[in-house]
Amino acid sequence: MRRWLPALGLCWACAHAATECPQPARVQLRQPVVVTAQEQAALQQLPQPLRVVAVGTPPLALYDQAHDRYSGLGIDALCFISAQLGLRFHIESAQHLKVLEKIALVQNGQADIFLPLSPTPERSQRGHFTAPLYQSHYVAIARKGQMQEVASTADLARYRVGVVAGVALEPILQQSIPQLLRFRESFSAGGLFDALRDGQIDIAVFSRDFYQEQRYHYELFDLEIIHALKEYPRSYGFYLGQSDAHRTLAQVMGRYVQALDTSASLQAHTQGERQLIERYLAQRQQRSAWQAASIGAALLAVVALVALHYYRRLTRQLARSNQQIRTQQHALQAANAQLERVSQTDALTHLANRRRYDQVLAQEYARCQRSGSPLSLLMLDLDFFKAVNDHYGHATGDDYLYAVAQVLQQHATRASDLAARYGGEEFVLLLPDTPLAQAVQIAEAIRAAVAALGLAHAQSLYGHVTASIGVATLGPQTSSAQALQAQADAQLYLAKTRGRNQVAHEQ
Ligand code: GH3
Ligand code: MG
Ligand code: MG
Repeated sequence: MRRWLPALGLCWACAHAATECPQPARVQLRQPVVVTAQEQAALQQLPQPLRVVAVGTPPLALYDQAHDRYSGLGIDALCFISAQLGLRFHIESAQHLKVLEKIALVQNGQADIFLPLSPTPERSQRGHFTAPLYQSHYVAIARKGQMQEVASTADLARYRVGVVAGVALEPILQQSIPQLLRFRESFSAGGLFDALRDGQIDIAVFSRDFYQEQRYHYELFDLEIIHALKEYPRSYGFYLGQSDAHRTLAQVMGRYVQALDTSASLQAHTQGERQLIERYLAQRQQRSAWQAASIGAALLAVVALVALHYYRRLTRQLARSNQQIRTQQHALQAANAQLERVSQTDALTHLANRRRYDQVLAQEYARCQRSGSPLSLLMLDLDFFKAVNDHYGHATGDDYLYAVAQVLQQHATRASDLAARYGGEEFVLLLPDTPLAQAVQIAEAIRAAVAALGLAHAQSLYGHVTASIGVATLGPQTSSAQALQAQADAQLYLAKTRGRNQVAHEQ
């Protein structure tokens, strides 16, 4: 007998070890089973270990992908019976093979046992069934809340009903349901359940146990069982090969199956399955929660990024605006300072103007009044200046005024001294902290310097421009800044009347 089937991706010989069985056994005999010596001899012809193929059909066989092994009521029964008969077996999971291909392995003698299968005449011709190990039935499944009127199997005739082609019930349904649609697949795309969810059919007729298990894997939570077709029981047993030895084994196993009490195993597997489903649902819920949390976190991150983006843009805009404001402020300050200077400066001579002079005089007067320090004032008027204009023209007169202003400025040597144009061709020099004698000296120096300029003056006795200067100092009789001004004015008048080109001062 060939043990290696590379074309099918199977290698029985590679699997030396027989499948291990759970201990203690979850099945027991209700009554003894007799195996004749002839049968014993026939069983010796079977290959060891027996080659078993199974499909996931709870509660008979449930495939555990993580450990690549099957468990279930059928496995427990197989374990028990093979131990009783002194046989070993190996379950080849062969997940890459379809159900029909696995059945064909048994029918072709390339495997010994298929678990589990319900009998049909065609299958019985090409192999041997044991007595049934488990009874189930078909159910009618519809979209939740869509169908209420199905009270009996006869009611199905009114609807568009779908079924998987080739199931044992198909020929019976075909007789009673005119609108029966047959599908090649069940859970996969384009199959029976897709058609039900899409509304292509109203009802799907399917194996109860298989549906109940698979609906969790395919998340068919929008579907519900609306009717159980209990009048069409579906029995499941072991399906064995065609040889005589296989027939004998089927008969002996059948006797065991009938004598077995499988209630403990059934309970254990139903419970196990329920736990599995609960675990699956819990994981699914957790997954959903994580997904929701991840989506929430992603949304939050997007919002934060957008907010950050706008924040940065606003910050940049604000920084630009602030910079502009600062630049404008500086320009404004500069303009103000310029305006301030212009408003306090005489345009022709560039000395302080009368407005500025009046301010400083008031300040210095107040300050020297408080401190008692001396404050002197020089008042200068050019002699016969009208004649200069008349003789040389106004422009020359302007040039002379500028030259005299420079002389005055040169004699305002301290930071607190202030030279100003008082008006017309009259100038003042305010000398804080300067006693009269020193002020007279300065006045004399200025007078001499003006004369030394040698500004031509045809109508003057001297032939050049001269100046008369009056000097006054803050004294006990001085009652105001204007009074000090008047004192200086009076001295200037004296200088004029005494012949001009001289300094007159208080004693
Ligand atoms: P004195 O003071 O010696 O008595 O004779 P004066 O001719 O100088 O008489 P007064 O001081 O009254 O005359 C002032 C003259 O100064 C009148 C005007 O022609 C001239 N003057 C006043 N302001 C300006 C000015 O801005 N530019 C020019 N070129 N001349 C001016
Ligand atoms: Mg004058
Ligand atoms: Mg004059």
